Amino acid sequence: MIFYGGLQLEGRMADLLADLSTRQVTKAITDDIPRDELLAPEPGTAEQYDPHVWFDVGLWAHASRTIAATLTERDPAHAADYRAGLDRYLAQLDELDAYVRDRLAPIPPERRLLVTSHDAFEYFGRRYDLDVAGIQGISTAAEATTADVERVAALIADRHVPAVFVESSVPPQTIDALVAAAAQRGAHVRVGAELFTDAAGEPGTPEGTYVGMLRANADRIADGLGGAQ
Ligand SMILES: [Zn+2]
Repeated sequence: MIFYGGLQLEGRMADLLADLSTRQVTKAITDDIPRDELLAPEPGTAEQYDPHVWFDVGLWAHASRTIAATLTERDPAHAADYRAGLDRYLAQLDELDAYVRDRLAPIPPERRLLVTSHDAFEYFGRRYDLDVAGIQGISTAAEATTADVERVAALIADRHVPAVFVESSVPPQTIDALVAAAAQRGAHVRVGAELFTDAAGEPGTPEGTYVGMLRANADRIADGLGGAQ
């Protein structure tokens, strides 16, 4: 079986996965997320929806149910095991959701602006009440323009945002340009700890799992934006 993200996250590889589906089970784990819970992508990108659904823990629960249902369908003899595994995982997701909410709650309203290199955090912002500004588009392939950098620098100066965040999948040059542009407007913004976006951490580390990656992001955002421990 091949599980994949879907929502055009895999780009042209999705065609290959569709071809394979006559010979083997391939399943987009976002298939069962209600379409009215999905966000639109940045204008001008190829996707129909923003594919970064893993940053909304509630949407990720849908994906987990889809995986369990697909496994059960192909291997009904172990249905009870998949059910038990799913229940345990959904309990972990509930706990994670509460943890992220608690960590971000102390950040004062005017500072609730998450500035990152590309627009991976729209779902995260919607669920946990943060405004989100990406310097480049939704895809890591798009280059940020000088106008993008100036637009975000103005936002930072306006809201006295203390930190911006470099992403593990994006080179940091764009962020450096932003810090310089903000400084020209008299805003002293520092680069917060790296967030996990389109990839989890190293296998075998806490951040190598979905739950660990979300927890680490919540900790780093809370620390960077001034939420108390
Ligand atoms: Zn992305």
